[in-house]
Amino acid sequence: MGTAADELAGLCATLGSNPLFTQGPGGNVSVKDGDRLWIKASGSWLADAANRDIFLPVSRSAVLEIADRGLKSFPARGGRSPSVEVVLHALLPQRLVLHLHMLDAIIQASLPDARQRLDSLLSGLAWRFLPYARPGLPLSRLAQDELRNDDTSPSVFILKNHGVVIAARDQAEAISLTNTLARRLWLAPRPLLVPDIPALLRNNDLQWRIPTSPWPHALAFGKAAAALRRNWPLCPEQVFCLGAKICVIAPETRLGAAVRAFSDANGYKPPLAVIPECGVLFAPDIDACAEALVEGMAHVALRTPENVPLETLGEADLAQLAPRTI
Ligand SMILES: [Zn+2]
Repeated sequence: MGTAADELAGLCATLGSNPLFTQGPGGNVSVKDGDRLWIKASGSWLADAANRDIFLPVSRSAVLEIADRGLKSFPARGGRSPSVEVVLHALLPQRLVLHLHMLDAIIQASLPDARQRLDSLLSGLAWRFLPYARPGLPLSRLAQDELRNDDTSPSVFILKNHGVVIAARDQAEAISLTNTLARRLWLAPRPLLVPDIPALLRNNDLQWRIPTSPWPHALAFGKAAAALRRNWPLCPEQVFCLGAKICVIAPETRLGAAVRAFSDANGYKPPLAVIPECGVLFAPDIDACAEALVEGMAHVALRTPENVPLETLGEADLAQLAPRTI
């Protein structure tokens, strides 16, 4: 009891419960205590930190040595492995490191004029921009190269198509930096549009579930949502939790036919289907991770400027990810 990680339960639960900061098991937090690095276990949710032990300790020097040798497996305890971003956390000299899938940051960093925007929005902060790299070792190598050419210790990294990393000496500084980023990168959401329930029921020949939360339906409305569906996916977490494509039901087509066509074309059953300008339907076996990601992407659709396509992941990026297959 009384470890460095115990002090972070409240912070993790707060960050993990904000869908604008993290969705599902995404995001991670670490704290250093000498050579011991406490880091969120892979697959656990920051939101659970108040009621569950989500951290495990690893040796920071061992992690860095394993990464230097190009090995991909890291020390595990009791069947739990550290977050895939453990090397990135170990590399940074600051005691406390937060990695958040902050949606406003993901949008701002994926707009065509991202660099100029961020230069202006983040002026005065010690921040760096990292182009997209696959989560895990490729991303940590990119950060390592950036740090190697840098005598200062940046406290903020903006990760294209991914999120942010915040490195701080203590909780107060981490909270302050998180609030500063949230405020400076804030994009005003458009008003929510209400789902057309009769139209959803008419198409729903498989008796899928209509989400009760209003947020997922935002993925069905407007130009920004249409562009997001067309250029899917924006970030790797979508691929892990929802798959590399999204099932969109064409006009005059019913759900059963659309799901069959989607499954035949993509090799997996879609966890959701979108009926443009009507709303969203959830498969009976949709899991909590997929639901969290749908809500996150709906927030992205509400906040993305219209008529400005986001730079999303390309075929080469997708080929490096292990997508949802069931
Ligand atoms: Zn991440």
